[in-house]
Amino acid sequence: MAALTPMMRQYMEIKEEYKDAFLFFRLGDFYEMFFDDALKAAQLLEITLTAREGGQAGKIPMCGVPYHSAASYIETLVRKGHKVAICEQTEDPAAAKGIVKREVIQLITPGTLTEGRSVGEKANVFIGSAGRTANGEYVLIRIDLSTGEGVATLAGKDEKSLISEAEALKIREIVVPDELYLALHDQALARSILLSVESDDSLPADGEDIARNCPTGMKPAAARLLRYLERTQKRSLGHLRPIIHRERRAVLSIDPNSRRNLELVQSIRDGGEKGSLYWLLDDTVTAMGGRKLRQWIHEPLADREAILARTETVGELIRSFFARGEVRELLKGVYDMERLAGKVAFGSATGRDLAQLRRSLEQSGPVRRALEESGEQRLVEIARTINPCPEVLGILQESITDDPPISNKEGGVIREGFNPRLDELRDASRNGKDWIAALEAEERRETGIKSLKIGYNRVFGYYLEVTKSNVHLVDTGRYERKQTLANAERYITPELKEKEALILNAEDEALILETELFNEVREKVKAHIQPVQELADRLSTLDVLAGFAEVSERYRFVMPEFHPGRDIVIRNGRHPVVEKMLDDGTYVPNDCILDGRANMLLITGPNMSGKSTYMRQVALIVIMAQIGCFVPADSARLPVTDQIFTRIGAADDLAGGQSTFMVEMMESRNALAHATEKSLLLFDEIGRGTSTYDGMALAQAMMEFIHREIGANTLFSTHYHELTALSEELGRLRNVHVAAAEQSGRVIFLHKVKEGPADKSYGIHVAELAGLPEPVIRRATELLGEFESASAAGGKHAEEPGSDQLSLFAELSAADDGGSSVAAEIEELDLLRMTPMDAFQWLHALQEKIRKERG
Ligand code: ADP
Repeated sequence: MAALTPMMRQYMEIKEEYKDAFLFFRLGDFYEMFFDDALKAAQLLEITLTAREGGQAGKIPMCGVPYHSAASYIETLVRKGHKVAICEQTEDPAAAKGIVKREVIQLITPGTLTEGRSVGEKANVFIGSAGRTANGEYVLIRIDLSTGEGVATLAGKDEKSLISEAEALKIREIVVPDELYLALHDQALARSILLSVESDDSLPADGEDIARNCPTGMKPAAARLLRYLERTQKRSLGHLRPIIHRERRAVLSIDPNSRRNLELVQSIRDGGEKGSLYWLLDDTVTAMGGRKLRQWIHEPLADREAILARTETVGELIRSFFARGEVRELLKGVYDMERLAGKVAFGSATGRDLAQLRRSLEQSGPVRRALEESGEQRLVEIARTINPCPEVLGILQESITDDPPISNKEGGVIREGFNPRLDELRDASRNGKDWIAALEAEERRETGIKSLKIGYNRVFGYYLEVTKSNVHLVDTGRYERKQTLANAERYITPELKEKEALILNAEDEALILETELFNEVREKVKAHIQPVQELADRLSTLDVLAGFAEVSERYRFVMPEFHPGRDIVIRNGRHPVVEKMLDDGTYVPNDCILDGRANMLLITGPNMSGKSTYMRQVALIVIMAQIGCFVPADSARLPVTDQIFTRIGAADDLAGGQSTFMVEMMESRNALAHATEKSLLLFDEIGRGTSTYDGMALAQAMMEFIHREIGANTLFSTHYHELTALSEELGRLRNVHVAAAEQSGRVIFLHKVKEGPADKSYGIHVAELAGLPEPVIRRATELLGEFESASAAGGKHAEEPGSDQLSLFAELSAADDGGSSVAAEIEELDLLRMTPMDAFQWLHALQEKIRKERG
C-alpha cells in the first residue's frame, strides 16, 4: 500500500470494507473502478478498460462511467446479482486540504434496488431475511424498501421450501446469519438468489415498532434485516411500516409447485403473465393495486370473515355501477403513493413527485364521497376509513407549483405566494428581464438598427448583438466591444452588466432558497407519512376489489357461498382462463360435487378430453373465492380450504423422463405429509412416469392412504382403468369420466364430466388425430382387439401381455434387421397400459436408435 498514491490508498481503505461490491469511486464527473472491479465491470458493462498511474505500483486497471448516466450501469450490475457501493466526495474539493474526503453513501443490492427500468410498476421488490425458530422451522421476512411494507411468515422446515417460497415471491436477495449461509448456499445459488450475511440481530432503536407484530422466534430475522438495511442504505427508513405477521392458519397455503402448476401468476408454457390467473383478474388501474393483487393471489385468505369482507364489497361494487365507474375513474389519477412515500422518506422525492402525491391525495376526497353516496353498507364502511390527509394536502397545495419540472435544479417548484422572499427575488429577476427587453427596444430605436438584439450566454452573460453590416451605425463609445463573431459584433454596457448581476444574483439566491423551502416541505410531508401510507393501502384495496367487480361482471362470475362444512358443490363451473382463451363460447361447464358421501373423485377419460382442465378449474374456483373474487360457475358452495396441493402437469413433457417421475413423487410426498381434511388435493395421472404396475400400485396406495388417513377433498385422474374398481373398496371414492364420443371412427371430445368410469380407451383415436401413420393405427387397432379379448379372459386385473402375444412380436422381429434387441424391447412393452404419448415417445426412441445403428 505504501507504494500507492494517496488517493489510491484512500480507495484501498474504502474497498477493504466493501469487498463483495463493485466500488463506484467518484472522481469528478465519473465513477471509477479499479483493479479487479475494473476488469470485471469492463466485461459486464461492455465499457473500455483503461489504466491509471498508481504511484510505484505502476499502472492500475481502471474503467469508469459518467456520473449522470451511472444509474443504468448500476442497474445492470445489480440485475446481474452484484452489489454496488456508491462512494461520493463528502467535502467540497475546493475546501479540502489534501485528498478530498470520500465515503460510501449507499450500497445498492439486488434486494434494495428500488428505482430503474427493471423495477416493474406492478411488481414488488422484496428483500428477504431468513431465520429459524426454536423448533427448526424457517422464518421468511420480506420487506419492499420502495413501498415500506413487510410480511413475516413461516416457510417450511427444509431449505428447499424456504428458497422456493422466496423464488415465488421474486425475492432476489436474502439476509442470513452466518450459520445459515452454508445450509442455504446451494439452493440459493441454483435460483440466482444472493445471500447476504448480517450477524447483528439486535433491533435498532426505531426497529422496535417495525418488528412489534413479530413473535419472539421471528424477531432476530427482522432485526438482521433492519440492521442490514440500515447499514446499506445509510438513509432514513422512516417509511417502513410495522411488519405484518401472517399466520399460517390465516392464509390458504399453496406450495410453490402448485402455484406454478395452477399458473397463478405466470403461465407454464413461456413463463409470461398471459394465460395466468393474475392476467385474467388484473383489471386494476393503479400500480399499487396491481402489486396488491399479486400478493393476494400469492396468499389467499383462510378466514371466513376476512373473505366475506372482500366478497361482499365486490358484490356491492357490482351493484353500484355508477359509484364503481366513478371510483375507478378517480383512481386512475392516483399515482404510486406507496413508492412516493418511500421517496419522501429517503429524501429523493422531487417537486414532480410531490405534485403527483398532491394529485393522488386530491382524488381521495371524491372517492370517499362516491362510496358514501352509493349507500351500500360495506362501501360506506370503507369510505369512513379513507382519510384524505388534509394536512399533507394543505401543505402541498400551498407550496408546490401545478406542474413542476422533472428535476429540481432549474427551480420552478415552489409556488408563488408561498414565501415572500422568494417572490421578491423572482420579481427582481423578472423586473431585470423586463428592463432588458425595454433596453433592446430603446437601443433599436436610437441606433436605427432593427436587427439589434440582446442575447445571453453562460460565458459572457447578457450582450447586445449587431450584425457586421450594421456595425457602422453604432457610434464609437456607445458600447464596449466584448466579442467578435464571423458576422456580428457583441457589446456590453456598464448598465447592462449591473442589471445582469442583479438578475443572476436574484436567480441564484432564489434557487438556493427554493431548495431550502422544498426540503422543508418534504420534511413536513415526511412527518405525515403514515396516514399517507394508510390511505394508499385503502385505495389500492379498493382498486383490486373494483377490478374484481369489473372482471366478475364481464365474465359472468357469481358470488361464492361459504359454509362451515367440508362440501364443495360447484354447479356449471368453468376454467376462467381456458374459457377466455377459447373466446368463442365453446367452453363446456361442469359440476363438481364433493360431499360427505364422496369427497374423492377418480376421473377417467381419454387424453385431451379435459381431465386436467377440470381439476384445475376446481382449484382455481377455490382460490378465486378465497382471494375475495367471484367465481366462474352458476353457483358455488364452498368450505374454507386450508391448503391446496397439486400433482399436475409436466407428464406430457417429452424431455422429462425419469427426473419428472422424481418430481412427481416429491410433490406427492409433500401433499401426503401436510394435507389435512380441510385441504384440496389434485393428482393428475399419478404414476405415469414409471412402469405400468409400479405406477398403478403407487396410485392405488396413495388413494387408499388419502381415503383412510387424510379425508381431504381429492380429485384423482388416471388412465389406469383398473383403478376404477377401487370405488368398490373405498366408500367415499366416486368414479366420473370425461365423456368423448366416437363418430365414424373418430373421437369427438365433449369435455363433459359424467358419472361412472370411462368405458373405453380412446388412445388410438387420439393417436390418429395426432397424425400417426395410418399403418400404425391400423395395426394398433388390431392389437387392441386381441389384448382386450386376452384381458377379458384374464379377470379383473389384466395379466401382463401373455406368451400368446409373444408370437406377434416374434414375427415383427424376424422381419426387422435391427435384430433381437428390438424384439426384446418390444417384448417388454406393455401396450395396453401405455398412453399414445408413451407409445409415441417409445417409437421415437426406437427410431433414433435404429438410425444410429445404421449410421
Ligand atoms: P387431459 O388432461 O384429459 O389430457 P386437458 O385438460 O389438458 O385434457 O384438456 C385438453 C384441451 O381440451 C384443453 O387444452 C382445452 O383446450 C380443451 N378443454 C378442456 N376442457 C374443456 C372444456 N370443459 N370445454 C372446452 N374445452 C376444453
